Amino acid sequence: MTAEEYDMFIKCSQCRHQKGDHDTAAKDDKKKCLIGNCKCKTFVPDRKYHKK
Ligand SMILES: [Zn+2]
Ligand SMILES: [Zn+2]
Repeated sequence: MTAEEYDMFIKCSQCRHQKGDHDTAAKDDKKKCLIGNCKCKTFVPDRKYHKK
């Protein structure tokens, strides 16, 4: 798995869905969650999964 692919599995600290479930093509503050009825408006990486 490449670092970029792994990045898509980082969970969102707001809704717990993965980064790949969010609108990653949008700007940083507009990466809304695309899962069904999820109300998350911005992807916020969970620090536990964001080791850099
Ligand atoms: Zn979500
Ligand atoms: Zn989210």
